[in-house]
Amino acid sequence: MEIKSLQKLFYQLYGREDPYPVEFYFAPGRICLIGEHIDYNGGWVMPAAISRGIYAGFRKEDNQIMWMRSGMDERDIVCSLAAEITYDESRGWGNYPLGVLSELQKKKIDLTGAELMFNSDLPIGAGLSSSACVEVLTAYMFAEQAGTPLDRTEIALIAQKAENNFIGVKCGIMDQFAVAHGKANNAILLNCDTLEHAYVPLKLGDYRLVVLNTNKQRQLSESKYHVRLAECQTALALLQSKTGILRLVQADPRDIDKCINDPVLRKRAHHVSSEQRRVQEAAAALRRGDIEAFGAILFASHRSLKEDYEVSGHELDTMVTGAQENPNCIGAKMSGAGFGGCAFALVKKDAIESFIVYIEQYYHRHTGRKGSAFMVDVVDGVHKLI
Ligand code: ADP
Ligand code: MG
Repeated sequence: MEIKSLQKLFYQLYGREDPYPVEFYFAPGRICLIGEHIDYNGGWVMPAAISRGIYAGFRKEDNQIMWMRSGMDERDIVCSLAAEITYDESRGWGNYPLGVLSELQKKKIDLTGAELMFNSDLPIGAGLSSSACVEVLTAYMFAEQAGTPLDRTEIALIAQKAENNFIGVKCGIMDQFAVAHGKANNAILLNCDTLEHAYVPLKLGDYRLVVLNTNKQRQLSESKYHVRLAECQTALALLQSKTGILRLVQADPRDIDKCINDPVLRKRAHHVSSEQRRVQEAAAALRRGDIEAFGAILFASHRSLKEDYEVSGHELDTMVTGAQENPNCIGAKMSGAGFGGCAFALVKKDAIESFIVYIEQYYHRHTGRKGSAFMVDVVDGVHKLI
């Protein structure tokens, strides 16, 4: 999005006359390249920050009132920062930034009043982590304004806490970490247990990343997400009664077959264990510049998510199958919690335009739905624009 058009929108909302300047910030969305449903199992994941995300306009006020607007709807959300901030369902999306401000209050960070505007060129609720963008932006902006900039890991942890405690989604740390720590043209290899991390150069060569949006809302995703979380906890308890592992990602496939009788729990554990191996294989493939091997690992990951973890669905499977049938695509998988939302594909850069036409038609033919596809670059994490 152009800064000029954001400035125009901001002035339309809040007027131009003011002693303080308007500052603009950007937080990128993220795709999970590999390591799906691994974060809450305490293992290694590999996300990347993408060139679509959420923009925020921020203008300081000499009071402790916060006004917020979002391109999502027409309402003004107003909140006093002088009192303790609590969850209020009627505030809808406002609870995402307010959850973060409530965490900052607990840290005794001085919150200034402000006029705020959020605008997005990221599909919302589509598994590209728009929620983490709003949270991370809020923590980053208000900490900076308070003159107590926080380090990026701390920002991610505050954002995750807000989503866990205020919103009530028991997400792991991956999304917020990727939005905070993204690095242009690099994947982030992150241990969700220890937060140890490293960047892996994403040398895509003749290929580019294309996001495939099913435009299917992930209605059931939250409840099923919590079911998967519980299944993993049960599978881990069964393995722990016979082996010394601390995390499900450490499970040996032979132990899974020996210790878990329930066929569903066994499949869940096999996904977690095999996906963890694929993260390491994917990092190794990228480090040696073998993009074709990386692509093949993406297809294998999708198969495991579909068959063993059962978090895919007709729409995501159609996107991935369509991509796989196209000669210009060397890898594709769903990204995020699943049951709808987005997948992504690695596509020959000279063929991106025709691939986008092809996949949108293919998806419509097989699902009757209108999906969309767009190319993304891999970019830096949250930052100030002007
Ligand atoms: P995802 O993070 O995959 O996009 P979630 O369901 O976790 O999906 O988060 C979506 C929610 O985040 C929205 O319903 C809204 O409450 C909040 N949100 C996302 N983008 C914006 C935005 N641009 N402005 C205000 N709130 C937003
Ligand atoms: Mg989210």
